[in-house]
Amino acid sequence: MDRVRVRYAPSPTGHLHIGGARTALFNYLFAKHHGGDFIFRLEDTDIERNIEGGEASQLENLEWLGIIPDESPLKPNPQYAPYRQMERLDIYKKYTDILLEKGYAYKCFCTSEELDAEHERQVAAGKAPKYNRKCCDLTPEQVKANEEAGMPYTIRVKVPEGKTYEFEDMIRGHVSFESEDIGDWVLVKANGIPTYNYAVVIDDHSMDITHVFRGEEHLSNTPKQLMIYDMLGWIAPTYGHMTLIVNEERKKLSKRDESIMQFISQYKEDGYLPDAMFNFMALLGWSPEGEQEIFNHDELIKEFSEKRLSKSPSMFDKDKLKWVNNRYIKERSLDEVVDLCLPFLKEAYDLSQHDDQWVRDLIAVYHDQLSYGKEIVELVSLFFEDELHLDDEAKEFMKDESIPQTLKVFKEKIMELEDFTKENIQACIKATQKEAKVKGKMLYMPIRIATTGIMHGPDLASSIMLLGKEKVIARLEG
Ligand code: GLU
Repeated sequence: MDRVRVRYAPSPTGHLHIGGARTALFNYLFAKHHGGDFIFRLEDTDIERNIEGGEASQLENLEWLGIIPDESPLKPNPQYAPYRQMERLDIYKKYTDILLEKGYAYKCFCTSEELDAEHERQVAAGKAPKYNRKCCDLTPEQVKANEEAGMPYTIRVKVPEGKTYEFEDMIRGHVSFESEDIGDWVLVKANGIPTYNYAVVIDDHSMDITHVFRGEEHLSNTPKQLMIYDMLGWIAPTYGHMTLIVNEERKKLSKRDESIMQFISQYKEDGYLPDAMFNFMALLGWSPEGEQEIFNHDELIKEFSEKRLSKSPSMFDKDKLKWVNNRYIKERSLDEVVDLCLPFLKEAYDLSQHDDQWVRDLIAVYHDQLSYGKEIVELVSLFFEDELHLDDEAKEFMKDESIPQTLKVFKEKIMELEDFTKENIQACIKATQKEAKVKGKMLYMPIRIATTGIMHGPDLASSIMLLGKEKVIARLEG
């Protein structure tokens, strides 16, 4: 096999979203598995829709995830540069001239009004709309006259008749399309800018791209691209069209869907870890051979095989992402988790009453449980609120008649404590057990609810220590 070269080719019309990141990731894993190159290139021909900073943001987010391109506009290989389509217009022009000269393409002077009217007429007649080839057989003289009259034109490909375009898709197997279902489509728009289906062929060929993994929405574009390869006498790359990513209601992810954060930057902002995202996204439409689900970057490269890409839609399971992220957080040192959480805590709470050690101890209590950085804010809220808000279950529990006595004894022990350490607090709980003659749930739960307001939380003695003597006594009195 030739050296594997794959590419991710976003339009800089938006930021890196989940679907794009998954496409980039699978191309990247495939390239690295085969010791090949991963290229980042831009389809920036939709000038009006390009956004300021779109390219940089795509690249930054990819790199944050650990998907580092071997070539990009910022890291060009002179053999293949430039990497932005708008800087490649002369390259497309060269091939357009060849296609025109060989009679594979022609200039079309139809106005959009004419095209719209024809479209409506065909639809009204119950036909699938396609270009009526009005300009296909213009004589060279007519073309010249139109051009001299300054009439704008597009360049259309003359779709061959009676041809079947077929290919072996790495994911879907054998796929075929009939040329009669395809109208003469536009290669170059009136402003001289090529369309996606045309430019992508020239780019993939001239950049020696060997394999293409892309979204299934491009499956029906493939025959259009294959006909250009045919006309120019080139060999097309091997394609793999990936299935959709759907939400928990089995609907295609879309920007309007508020149930899932769409952009990689949002996960970064909420304190998800890049290596966990990398791992989680690799499982969106690909599965490893065994049961193992946690794989680091290099393990994924080693394990990846296009043969195990899924043929059915993959669900973006937010709870699974949290689970994966938690697994990675647990592996991090406490220092790293403190760095992850601190900005969120600072933003949410006034920490001026507490020293660094207290903040560190607070985070340590949640280290094993934390799913993502920002989650720390809700987890620790009980340490910052003045009033506790018990839920119904907790209120119900606190009705047991043994509880006032248990809490009274515990409060007395706590008031006597000079050194408010975890060990001493633990000893107070033990002493309460003896004196109030309660144990197990009837000992721990009243103390937990009365001091923290919740029935399930981190280690009780640590929580009480972090709350501080004053607050604990106030809560026991309240
Ligand atoms: N810019 C296209 C997209 O983002 C690339 C399609 C392709 O990979 O051919 O969907």
